Parts: sequence; C-alpha cells; structure tokens
Amino acid sequence: MQTHVIALAGLPNVGKSTVFNRLTGLHQHTGNWTGKTVSSARGSFSTARRRCLLVDVPGAYSLSARSDDERVARDFLLSDEAEAILLVCDAGLLERNLFYALQVLALGKPVLLCLNLMDEAARRGLTLDLPLLSERLGVPVVGVSARKRGSRRVLLDAIDALLDAPRSPAPIPLPAEEEARTAALVREAEALCRGVVQGRQQLPARDRRIDRVLTGKLFAFPVMLLLLALVFYLTIAGANAPSVFLSRLLFSLEAPLAAFLSRLGLPARLSAMLTEGAYRTLSWVVSVMLPPMAIFFPLFTLLEDLGYLPRVAYNLDRPFQRCGACGKQCLTMAMGFGCNAAGVTGCRIIDSKRERLLAVLTNSFVPCNGRFPLLIAVITMFFAPRSTLGASLILTGIIALSVLLSFAATALLSGTLLRGEPSSFVLELPPYRRPQLGQILVRSLLDRTLKVLLRAAAVAAPAGAALWLLANTRAGGESLLLQAAALLDGAGRFLGLDGAILLAFLLGLPANETVLPILLMIYTAGGSLTEPGALADVQAILLQNGWTAGTAACMLCFTVLHWPCSTTLLTVKKETGGWGWTALAALLPTGFGLILCKLLAGM
Ligand code: GDP
Repeated sequence: MQTHVIALAGLPNVGKSTVFNRLTGLHQHTGNWTGKTVSSARGSFSTARRRCLLVDVPGAYSLSARSDDERVARDFLLSDEAEAILLVCDAGLLERNLFYALQVLALGKPVLLCLNLMDEAARRGLTLDLPLLSERLGVPVVGVSARKRGSRRVLLDAIDALLDAPRSPAPIPLPAEEEARTAALVREAEALCRGVVQGRQQLPARDRRIDRVLTGKLFAFPVMLLLLALVFYLTIAGANAPSVFLSRLLFSLEAPLAAFLSRLGLPARLSAMLTEGAYRTLSWVVSVMLPPMAIFFPLFTLLEDLGYLPRVAYNLDRPFQRCGACGKQCLTMAMGFGCNAAGVTGCRIIDSKRERLLAVLTNSFVPCNGRFPLLIAVITMFFAPRSTLGASLILTGIIALSVLLSFAATALLSGTLLRGEPSSFVLELPPYRRPQLGQILVRSLLDRTLKVLLRAAAVAAPAGAALWLLANTRAGGESLLLQAAALLDGAGRFLGLDGAILLAFLLGLPANETVLPILLMIYTAGGSLTEPGALADVQAILLQNGWTAGTAACMLCFTVLHWPCSTTLLTVKKETGGWGWTALAALLPTGFGLILCKLLAGM
C-alpha cells in the first residue's frame, strides 16, 4: 500500500506534539515552552483507508527562514516528499496563528487546518465559526482538543477526506518585499477573524490573578527561588534512601559477576578490570545518579506542564536584555540544568546568531544533572550534615550564584567579542494547564531519566576500565594514576584543591558524574574504586586526604565552573562550526572557576 507523507506544521506551543502523539501513538516529548522541537520526528498511522507517515516539522513563527528552525520547516514543507500539510493552530489565538497559516497556505499544497485547544478557547469564552473560516480560506477546517482521545477519529476522517480530494488552496496574492508582505499578512489575518471569532480574548481571570503574583515585581524572584529550593529539597530528601539501597544491591552483585567471569576462563587481570573497573564505576554512577534524577526530572516536567517555565522566561527577560542577550536564553539555561549538551542544542530557538552564540558559550555555567550529585554530596558532608533543609538552601544559593555568573559572562561577551543590540522577542504567556501526571511520569522517566542515565553509563563503564588500567600499571614502583596526581599537585594546591582533585576533573571529561568515583579511586590508591557506600565512608576518605571546609568550598566552586563535558564540547563545535568558539566555551567557565577558587583559597 502506498504511504502518504503528511507534514505536521504550526507555531510553537499549539499542541503539535500532542497531535503527533495522538495520531501515531509514539511518545514524542511535549513541552510548554516555545520552539522545543528542533529536529523533525516521524511516526506512522493508518486512517480507515490509508497508511500515512507524519513528519513533525519544527515549530516556527514565520516561513521567512530567518532561523534554523524556520529553514528546516520551510524546506520540508516545500519538498516533493510532503504530499499534504496538517496545520495545527491554537483556536484561542487565531489571529496570530493565521498570520503563519496564511504563509503555509501560500505554498499551494493541500492543507487540513486543525484548530486545536478548542477546550481552552471555550473556557475563555470564545466561540468559533469553523464553516465560515473554511469557506474563507478554501481549505477544510476541523476543531479538536488533542488531549482528548476522541480527537483521533475526527482527525483521521478529516485526513482521509483531504486525501480523497486533494485540492490546493487558491493562491494568495502577497507582496514579495518583506515589510509590505508582513503588513499584508497581518491585515489579512485580522480580516479573516472578523465574524469567525466571537467573544473577548484574554487569559482567564484566575490565570491573570496568579500571574500578578508569579510575574509581579514583588514576588516573581522570591517565588522562583522558593520553588527552586523546594524542588531541591524534595530531590535531596527523597534520593538518599534509594541511593543507599541501590548501591548495596549493585555492590552485592559484584562477587557473583567476578565468579562468573572466572568460570568463563577470563584471565584474572582482565576479570579484575571488568569488575573492579568497569562494573564498579557503573554501579557508582547508577546509584548516585538515578535516584535524584528520577525525582528531579518529574518535578521539573511538572513545572513545565503547569505553564510555569514560560513565566520564568518572562521574569528573566529583562535581566538578559540588560546583558545584551535574548530572554529565550533562560529557556536554554533551564535545559542546561538537565544536560548542557541538550541546552546547547536548544539554543537553536534563538534567532539572532550573536545571541545564539552568547547562549551557547555560557550554557555550562549552570551545572548539569551530572554535577548535582557531586554538589549535593559535598554540601551534605561538609556544610549541612544533618539538615536536608540546610543542604537544599545552600544548593539553591549556589545555583542562584551560577545564574548570576552566567549573566556576568553574557554581559562580558556582549560587551567585548559579541557586541550588538539585543533583539526583541515576543513571549506569550500560555494559560496555566492542568498537568497530566501519568504522562509526566512516563515522559520524564523514560524520555529524560533513562536517556541521560544510559548515556552516562555508556561512558562510565569504559572509562572505569581505562582508569583501572592506569591505576594498575606501574612505572618506577608507582601507579601511573598516582604519578599523574603528584604532577598536578602544585597547580591543585594553588587553587585550594589538590592534584588528585584536578586529575579527577580532567579524567572526568567524558562524564561529570565520574569525578567523585575517580577521586576516590586515586585517594584509596587501591587500584580500584571503593565500593559505592554511605557518605560517611566517603567523608572519612576525604578527611584522611587532608580535606577541610576550605577544600570543600573550592570543590563546589570548581564543580560549577570548569570545562563542560566532552559531549557538550562536541555539541558546541557542531552548533557553532568552529573550534575557536568551542575552546572559548571551555575557557570561559574555567577562567571564572580558577579566579573564584583562588579567591576562596586565599581567604
Ligand atoms: P507543541 O509545542 O506545539 O508541540 O505543543 P505541545 O504538544 O507540547 O503542547 C503544549 C501544551 O498544550 C502541553 O502542555 C499540552 O499538554 C497542552 N495541550 C495540547 N493540546 C491540548 C488540548 O487540546 N487541550 C488542552 N487543554 N491542552 C492541550
């Protein structure tokens, strides 16, 4: 049977991913901030009579192809591959959506206009005359609430009807010149809405009341910090017990694994490398990372789903503008908390090249998920041993500081290398939405937690094996690992750290989550990692090696501010196209880190 290729287009945040999932049953990650879809996802589905392939093109504001997103969207819509277009619009923001829809219609392909979010439009007191709109545009129009199951049938039937009699919309005469064209589109969209939309359009009164607090002068920043602290508190409080459980479980499996390998007839040295090197590092990474991630990501996704993240972008817009950057940078920063490489890729949502570079180069100033466990461990051991509340407040302080420093770095760059005017950006506050808890769990656990964990594990296991080799290869009576640490000792001490710590950061380049296990491996010099254990044991090792509160403070500082991991660096190279920018992305946070550590060490 022939497969019909249908392009899924629409502005960001109109429910395209939801429509995609509804039709294909795939779980494309949906999000409540603008422009998250940066590369196209594909999925197939069947109507009553056909097989179709749905291709999700990036959400874009126009088809002028100013940003990468827009270019990808436009190229695909124009390609021969796309037979018809399923154009999703927000029923509650019809005029703005029509501005884009008209440009898509002008491409001359058969289009099915899907007005989504009909439930929200109704709640806001809007009614829409769909037949009239369809008549004016000359294309079929359906109204759905894609979150509701019943919408699938409606869409399938409408798609069948469209493919039964594919009909291109009448060409719309538009001036070629950019500004005249924009003006004409705005006028046309306005005229089309007249008579189609009835009712006054605004956020529901309840939402506006909430917004007065969450984005108001007085409370915006305190509420942001409070929510951040709350998320950290829940993460720290909840992660401890499962972490201990996991580490015990995984460690108890090591002896059987070793026995199994020796039964296979593996040489003792190889078997030791695999168990004490690869497996033990892997156990460390899993037991230290998995529990906090499994709590942090769902909470973060919950805030995203409620509609809070766009408010954060709104609040941070002005400070970013002051630094000569774009408010959207805070969204890429938020992604950076999950993973800096993801944050750097996310910078594609920023149109201007200069502002995009600012966001890319400063992304790793906020610590990614791989660095949180280390921060939490050091804070808990040295600064708040008995108080989860204390630990989460300190962590909140450190994060707030990292955000401030990323402002400073942005301002520094935009005042020197990347000078220019900030562009304005339109960020619309979507209504608050009731989160879908089941979906949040599936999405954040499968999509994010598991992916991040697998990536970390894929690096940790071979890195563990390699480290074991370094630790167990001797030259002149001492292991290579210890010799390297001794070599770096002078530089380390100068910064309030020591050679072992510096070496651990260097060897942790492939994955930040391995820094602590590597450090312990060097300290214990036993040639293999200590078994993953309680923090008290870890602390004892650190104290034996001369750690003081001062060392811990410098460690916290360097954890936040040093070079990004190799995956992030490669992503920077890919996004900027230059090794020079990549080097700068590594040097900038490291430079800040060196200065701060030196200041702290001198105190
Ligand atoms: P995209 O950016 O266009 O892919 O939009 P998403 O699919 O991520 O949807 C944005 C938000 O709108 C998510 O929180 C969805 O759950 C929500 N959403 C999507 N469709 C509907 C709908 O029909 N009704 C309601 N109430 N919410 C919806």
